[in-house]
Amino acid sequence: MTVRHFPFPHKAVRGRRLHVVPEPKPRPEPMHAAERRMRDAGGPDDRACYSCDCGFIFVAPVSTSVDCPHCGSAQAW
Ligand SMILES: [Zn+2]
Repeated sequence: MTVRHFPFPHKAVRGRRLHVVPEPKPRPEPMHAAERRMRDAGGPDDRACYSCDCGFIFVAPVSTSVDCPHCGSAQAW
């Protein structure tokens, strides 16, 4: 039996490297025209007009705890 020793270790197959292709980025969700207009305008208006029992009418951010700036009573929401 003849055993041959190669002078060099077996070379890896060159020129056939696995090329890892990054996955394509997901496309952005198509934005509806109304949504785009809303975003361009700075987002939805989360303020509401409150009319207090004291007769004072004011605009305040929508919240579960809005007090009348005139008499201080809590407003229903
Ligand atoms: Zn009030």
